[in-house]
Amino acid sequence: MSVFSTNGPQSDPTVQPVPASVVAQVDAADTTLSNPKRAVVSLGSNLGNRLETLQGAIDALEDTPGLRVKAVSPVYETEPWGVEPGTQPSYFNAVVVIRTTLPPSSLLERGQAIEEAFDRVRDERWGPRTIDVDILAYADVVSDDPQLTLPHPRAHERAFVLAPWYDVEPEAQVAGHGAVAELLARIGRGGVRTREDLELRLPE
Ligand code: ADP
Ligand code: MG
Repeated sequence: MSVFSTNGPQSDPTVQPVPASVVAQVDAADTTLSNPKRAVVSLGSNLGNRLETLQGAIDALEDTPGLRVKAVSPVYETEPWGVEPGTQPSYFNAVVVIRTTLPPSSLLERGQAIEEAFDRVRDERWGPRTIDVDILAYADVVSDDPQLTLPHPRAHERAFVLAPWYDVEPEAQVAGHGAVAELLARIGRGGVRTREDLELRLPE
């Protein structure tokens, strides 16, 4: 469905037709959102069907009124650290870029609701932590509120965040810490690897 149908032959002649090339670039849902902001969200799962869980969280984000998922990173596999090797499954991590009219606090609540939705499934079948939803950045907002620290306080030191973030936003900056590309170059990709055999879908 095109929101530009009013530019057709029967439309108000005072309305300038939008060039086809521009129409093709405008996302219909974006135009219904007033002043959406760009945000970057990190997803991690180490229990159950990790790929399905990541995709479920992405789909749940897209199902949020006032939120569109714009880009989805490759899947990274990350060895859990601070635990005995082989005692816990590895993490699957990904980063998504969204555009949203939700304020940061509502985006955090939505992320927590998604965590709880998967936790409910988890409680019946598995141990702790099915999905972690973290807000890496929200527009240029800087906040030291412990409930919602922006940019995320540990993003700049985690390869499993920086590697997929770099893939979806190669020019990104972490406010107060520098370019994602430089941070990643500095800490390296130790402990994380791309799972090229797996793929997350951008919701239609
Ligand atoms: P972690 O993500 O550090 O492993 P949790 O997911 O349990 O830990 O989150 C703990 C708390 O972190 C949450 O209750 C939330 O209020 C807070 N928090 C602070 N900043 C952020 C952020 N940028 N994104 C998500 N949660 C955050
Ligand atoms: Mg978290």
